[in-house]
Amino acid sequence: MAVLRWGSASHEGRLRAQNEDHAHAGEGLFVVADGMGGHLAGEIASEMAVDRLNERLPITGENTRDELVDAITEANTEIYQGSIDDADRAGMGTTVTAIAVVVDPHDGEAFAVANVGDSRSYVLRHGRLRQLTIDHSFVQELVAEGAITRDEARTHPRRNIVTRALGIEPYVRVDSWTMPIIRGDRFVLCSDGLVDEITDEAITEILAEHTDDPEAAAQALVDAANEAGGRDNITVVVV
Ligand code: MG
Repeated sequence: MAVLRWGSASHEGRLRAQNEDHAHAGEGLFVVADGMGGHLAGEIASEMAVDRLNERLPITGENTRDELVDAITEANTEIYQGSIDDADRAGMGTTVTAIAVVVDPHDGEAFAVANVGDSRSYVLRHGRLRQLTIDHSFVQELVAEGAITRDEARTHPRRNIVTRALGIEPYVRVDSWTMPIIRGDRFVLCSDGLVDEITDEAITEILAEHTDDPEAAAQALVDAANEAGGRDNITVVVV
């Protein structure tokens, strides 16, 4: 397997009492999930998503992109069923973005990337940060139509509306693809609490200041989002 290094950090932010984000960073699997729903339900939904992926994608070196998508689909079913069975959990849901080391029939060992909702995965290659995932959100649709700019989306009053999430409907469409593993690439997985507070340029600069230590990079990104306002829970995984 490719040799990876990673780190993660999470904070409830400066306005929220609870942290409804969950993350996983371990050999071959990296996940960020941002839960929604009252009475701790969001926290439960994001944890269910992370747990299910962890369980379904053991460290075998033989996982596939289909298995990653299946695990996300299963998490959707589980969270949806949970919200029906338990009145306290009605309406719970979560975003998810994940990167897994998989075996691709064409590329051999590769990364599979997947997402539902507005948590993001980025790649930093040759000093340039590129967003891999497309947000499933109301403001992303406005950006795609050209009605607002990416920068306006970050402060738009309706930026929190997601158009796809796990647990909301019985079936969910998962965006996914594979990409080759390239030495020196760095990945950032994050909840919207990061990107609503700091720009992609700021993320790039902070990564440049912490090239050797992914844990320190993740912590510095969370700190920067808190300094910029910390209006939401902030979770970052750096690989
Ligand atoms: Mg959030």
